[in-house]
Amino acid sequence: MESIEPSLLSTDIAGASANTDPFKSDNSDNSNECFPDLLISDVSVLNSITERTFCASCNSSRRYFCYTCHVALPITRPLIPLIETLPSKIDVIKHEAEIDGKSTAIHAKVISPDNVDILHYPSGIPDYENDAILVFPDAEFNVEDVSRSLSKAVFIDGTWSQAKKMLKHPKLRNLKRVKLKSRPTTFWRPQTGKSEAHLATIEAVYYFVREFHESLNCGDYDGRFDNLLFLYKFFRDKIPQ
Ligand SMILES: [Zn+2]
Repeated sequence: MESIEPSLLSTDIAGASANTDPFKSDNSDNSNECFPDLLISDVSVLNSITERTFCASCNSSRRYFCYTCHVALPITRPLIPLIETLPSKIDVIKHEAEIDGKSTAIHAKVISPDNVDILHYPSGIPDYENDAILVFPDAEFNVEDVSRSLSKAVFIDGTWSQAKKMLKHPKLRNLKRVKLKSRPTTFWRPQTGKSEAHLATIEAVYYFVREFHESLNCGDYDGRFDNLLFLYKFFRDKIPQ
């Protein structure tokens, strides 16, 4: 889905390792930061992570989080924000052909572990209750149409052609489909062949959660979910503009 992040994860970020002071942000010019208007915690704390350490669950060597177990590492857990409450539970259905390390959906699980589940297509798809919704760009309904008592918001994570196939699965095809209205204004550059409305999965989760909260609270929003984009911002800010 996103081509840049796995290379960042696998090669270890050159900008960070070249920084002589690991606690100093290498973004002295803020103009290139993504999401400048959101209340995202200072991502430069992760520049202190200069070596791989071991995942407490599977003992694999990782840099920032374990993309297999979907957890932060013991050394990064205190540095990565936690969001304890979201306005609905979130399921992300990941295509089995997608490489784990590529998925930004894992960011949502790392940052809000009690509210997000990452499930594999097709074996891991549960039977959804009638009021569950599927968030997808091609949809008849808007977030304002979603019931206050929503049991689950479901996202699918894969390439555009994988997604079209996944939508036909019997457990997904009858879910009410809901589209987002919010769009990032400047940062995201659609990749060749992708819809212009294409968002990284973590962005779609964030914009849904925010829109749903605003819909329930007459438009009021105080930034409480902005840290869902913490890891995404950290990786995006490393990309030369
Ligand atoms: Zn692990």
